[in-house]
Amino acid sequence: MIAATKAKVSTGKLLINGQWLEGSGKPFSTMNPATGEVLTQVADASAHDVDQAVAAARKAFDDVAGPWRKMSASERSKILWRIADLVEKNIEELAELETLDNGKPIFESRYVDMPMVADVFRYFAGLATKIHGETVNTFSNAFTYTLREPVGVVGAIIAWNFPLLLASWKLGPALACGNTVVLKPAEQTPLTALRFGELALEAGLPAGVLNIITGGPETGAALVKHPGVDKIAFTGSTVVGKEIMRNSADTLKRVTLELGGKSPNIVFADSSLDAAVKGALNGIFYGKGEVCCAGSRLFVEKKVEDEFLGKLVEYSKKIKLGDPLDPKTRLGALVSQKQMDTVLGYIQAGKSEGAQVIAGGNRAAVNGDHGYFVEPTIFSGVKNDMKIAQEEIFGPVLATLSFNDIEEVAEQANKNVYGLASAIWTNDLKKAHQLSRRLKAGTVWINTYGLMDAALPFGGFKQSGFGRELGMHALDHYTELKTVWMNL
Ligand code: NAD
Repeated sequence: MIAATKAKVSTGKLLINGQWLEGSGKPFSTMNPATGEVLTQVADASAHDVDQAVAAARKAFDDVAGPWRKMSASERSKILWRIADLVEKNIEELAELETLDNGKPIFESRYVDMPMVADVFRYFAGLATKIHGETVNTFSNAFTYTLREPVGVVGAIIAWNFPLLLASWKLGPALACGNTVVLKPAEQTPLTALRFGELALEAGLPAGVLNIITGGPETGAALVKHPGVDKIAFTGSTVVGKEIMRNSADTLKRVTLELGGKSPNIVFADSSLDAAVKGALNGIFYGKGEVCCAGSRLFVEKKVEDEFLGKLVEYSKKIKLGDPLDPKTRLGALVSQKQMDTVLGYIQAGKSEGAQVIAGGNRAAVNGDHGYFVEPTIFSGVKNDMKIAQEEIFGPVLATLSFNDIEEVAEQANKNVYGLASAIWTNDLKKAHQLSRRLKAGTVWINTYGLMDAALPFGGFKQSGFGRELGMHALDHYTELKTVWMNL
């Protein structure tokens, strides 16, 4: 049985210039993946609506006498802080909306995603007053300095796996730096962004500073090609990331890309094996494996492989899969039928290529055959050139491989087009630090998996994208650097 819900789910409209408007496209449904039922209808933003949203953002940014440009950094900071307070005040509703729309366990939405959204806004509220240029000594008859200015109108395009959290990673720095934003959430999960829009207005964000347009790839592409947009901040697949780069070329937009991953999680025989087992399970089954930095390639040192895999399978059977709204659930529903079919297709591919399923391997019956649930699945005997070891599955499917020494695992771990994250489990800290320098990945976790903090940069090497979100480095991507020369 799937529990009754408390969150109010209203019809989705577009937020343009502080007003909630019907879209001119045909509204589309957003579904509850745990039941297959329609939650509500959401406006589809046409190219005309995108124009309106960009015009509103442009005006709010360009109008030097307008409220946003006249606002001091300290006043912007206060608004961001108020947004964080309102997210916390409405945390139960936001968490429930996220779980309904995405299928993730309420435990994750309530205790991880939403608290981090508030934290991200507080972090960037703090930074808003610390954005500055430098004075530089050059010639005796010159006064030279730099200014950090906002980029302008930011188009933020988001994936469905951490809907509001990913939005906060872009909105926090964009607004702290004084930009205006047109946000396009993923078509599968628009609900928390829309509720957030109401909270942002309540917090005092002036009209036009944040515009929210819902729709699919066409809406996103119209935003990317729009000449009124200065920068695109994108989180999504590598395939779409490449298309965004191509579509940004004509207008030479600034682009930051947070893309896919196939992160190696490396367990040495000298690690604390029970902790590593828990880390491996958390690395792949947290967020249903629909996590860009999921530890989806597990490398285990050969001499402990049998023991480790035995424990892994045993512990994986204890993961509570079920109703995402049940506080005890730890593995929810995949976001859509399409995603479930993709994941089941990869399980089939793994079997066909000769890997062995040692846990799970099937669709799970939670709500008859209405919900999109897949069992926590573990493959052994995987070779690094198999499809399930090379491609991002984006579901609860773990490929396990074995290795003999640090040289072999360093080479194998890097043999992949992605480079988002990685982890090392060992009690030999010298080895851990040596290997962390050799891994081509934006994050290395040592004896843990998946930790994040608003103060630490996150992003990819190689085809996992470029640019960094979170931390102080995020500000570089939301500002332009200007040099001023004054003849004395
Ligand atoms: P997707 O690329 O299909 O879609 C992402 C967003 O882009 C959606 O809002 C979609 O409507 C929009 N879009 C699609 N085509 C577009 C186009 N041509 N132009 C402009 N916008 C377009 O990705 P997804 O399936 O929603 O998300 C899963 C992917 O996101 C995975 O690859 C995952 O690894 C990645 N991801 C990366 C990070 C990170 O921080 N690196 C975080 C979360 C997810």
